[in-house]
Formats: sequence, structure tokens, C-alpha cells
Amino acid sequence: MSSRSSRWARWPGTWFTVALALVLAGVLLLTPGRGQTRPGPPDGGPPPAASTTAPPVVKDAEWMRPLRPGEKPPQFVLFSFDGAGSHEHWSRYLALAKSVNAHFSGFLSGIYLLTDEQRPHYTGPGHKPGAASIGFGGSAAEVATRVQDLNAAVAAGHQIGTHYNGHFCTGAEPSVGRWTAKGWTDEIGQFSRFVDDARDHLGLHLSAHDVTGGRTPCLEGNWAEAFPAMRDAGYTFDSSQPSDGVKWPTRLDGIWEFWMPYVKVPALHKKVIMMDYNLWYQFNHARNDPSHAEQYTQATLETYRTAYRAAFDGNRAPLVIGNHFNDWAGGAFSRAAEGFMGEVCARPETVCATYAEVTKWMSLQDPAVLEKYRSMPPAQAG
Ligand SMILES: [Zn+2]
Repeated sequence: MSSRSSRWARWPGTWFTVALALVLAGVLLLTPGRGQTRPGPPDGGPPPAASTTAPPVVKDAEWMRPLRPGEKPPQFVLFSFDGAGSHEHWSRYLALAKSVNAHFSGFLSGIYLLTDEQRPHYTGPGHKPGAASIGFGGSAAEVATRVQDLNAAVAAGHQIGTHYNGHFCTGAEPSVGRWTAKGWTDEIGQFSRFVDDARDHLGLHLSAHDVTGGRTPCLEGNWAEAFPAMRDAGYTFDSSQPSDGVKWPTRLDGIWEFWMPYVKVPALHKKVIMMDYNLWYQFNHARNDPSHAEQYTQATLETYRTAYRAAFDGNRAPLVIGNHFNDWAGGAFSRAAEGFMGEVCARPETVCATYAEVTKWMSLQDPAVLEKYRSMPPAQAG
């Protein structure tokens, strides 16, 4: 505290800057549609028209600055949820994140913005119109609720990315792993159209150009084909490829890859990609057996804690926690993610942030300082 006051005392201009910022903040709060945290009616009614509400302004946090000499990077934790369609999960995670000052990322499946009747509006690359490996958005009321959830997320500073549309994994051929760049461009173009249509007609406070990356279905894809399409769409990050241990994001082909780490699962004495489905598969071949829910929750929590500790004490690489909005295995993995978000985001030197925030933070650093951490070995639990 004292070092901060003396630094401010040495720089009287700071007070002017703060005063100016306060005045500007007041202006923003008085501007209609700005500063509201829960746009739209809370009763599930139709959302407001797009033109009445400007996008929310989310202030940068204290840690969004270059590191001071000798200071370690904050331990970033990136909670990311694929699908991002479930109202129940949005409600739970939005409330929890607010209570621990966390930001997270929802990777939206684009067809969740289409009602079931609108399914012919989507044609996956190489598939028939209306075909998909996951459900569509349900009724018009369910889609409207989803739009409100997404708006609440955006207003609270969370990030919306893409989980693409049809979720075609190996076996649902042609699956994403077989798509050419042209196929990916088609898929991304349709995702963008669903988002912009929802913006124009359903009051979604998000445009296709706000979406800057995401996660592929089942972490699959031929990257040599997918990445050029992502780049053409203006995407700046992906979070699908596995890394051995917790590793700093790497720039591949103009895209930041936020790796999905293989980490030690203490309960299994082996390494697994730290994603709910992959853990579930290793626990019991992804059979839906709720009787082991508590055991899986504890084993997953222990995995998160071990990986976090290894990164915190090691290279401080951002830790990606990949999950879905689902209740697999009796909700075991949701409870693990919620438990970990609740405990880790409130820890010292720890920031639960979005991909956009971590990307911006990296861009503010002295490359030589960041390189020192990047060149450390990927964090591995002992
Ligand atoms: Zn998925």
C-alpha cells in the first residue's frame, strides 16, 4: 500500500488521469443502455431489439499491464465450456463467476441459435440439410432464453467463442477431421450467419466479428486445412490441440494455440487431456453411471489442483480447463469445474480470465520477459 501511495505521489498527473476516468465513467453510466448488467427482461420474455442497447463496456482489471521488474506472470486459469447452450449451466456459472471475480469463455454451438424448426437452415460440409450430431436450439422461447444468457455473459465480461455447428466427430463422416479449408470456411460462415441473424432479429449483443476463435468438436481437425480458414475468418486463437504438460500459448500460422494439456491424473496414475469427456472416458469409458459421481468429482478436482500447482510453481503458463455445459456422470464434471472455479479464482496471484484477456495481456509484455517463461519446460505434475 505504501509503495503504491508513494509512487502516485511522485506522479501527480495520475490524479488527473483518475479524475478524468471517473468523469468518463459517469458519462458512460448515464448513457442509455450502457452499464446495465442484465439486459432484457428477466422473465424469459422477448429480448430488446438490438438497436436499443449498446454493447457493454467492460473495464480492464488491475493486472492488465506489463509485469513489473522481477514480477511473475499471474497464474491465469481459462475456464472454457463447449456448447454453451444450457440455461441451467449459464445461470450457475454466471452467479459463481461473479462471486469470485472470474471471467470465463463459452464456446457456442451455432445451431443452438436455431429453433428445431429452423434446422434445414444449416447444412454441414458434406452433410444433408438439417443433419447434426447434436440437437438444435429447441423452441423459440428456449432460443430467446439462450440469447439472454449470452447477453448476460457478454455484459459481465465473459467471452463467447465458437464450438462450430454440427459437432461431427470421427464416425459421423465426413467428420471435421476430413474437412478441407473450403469445408471449414463454409462451417465458419454459417456460424457467423447464425450469430449475426440472432443479433439482427433476436437482440443478441454479439456480432460474428466479436467471435475470435474457439474449440473444435472432440478436439478434432486437420489443422493444415482448418487454420487457414480460421485465419481468413479473422480468428486469432484456437484451444483444441493437445500439449504434453501445461504450456504457454504458441503462435501457429498466425493463430494463438492455447493448448489443451495432457496432465497427470493422480487417481489413475496416468496422463489424460484435461477435458471433462477425456477424463470420463478414462474413468469408465464414458458410461453414464451416476453412482460414481462423487468419486469422479474428487479425482477431477485433484487433477485440476495438481496441474495448477505445477504451473504456479513452474512456468506460470495459463491453465486451460476444458469442459462442457452438461451433467455427464451425474454432474460429476460440472461439480468439479464449479468447485475449482470457486476455490482457485480467489487465490492470490491467480486470475481467471478469457482468451481475449490473456491474449491482450501477452501483447503488453516485454517479449524478452515473456520468453523467459515460455522457454521453461511445460509444467508437469511430479
Ligand atoms: Zn463438444
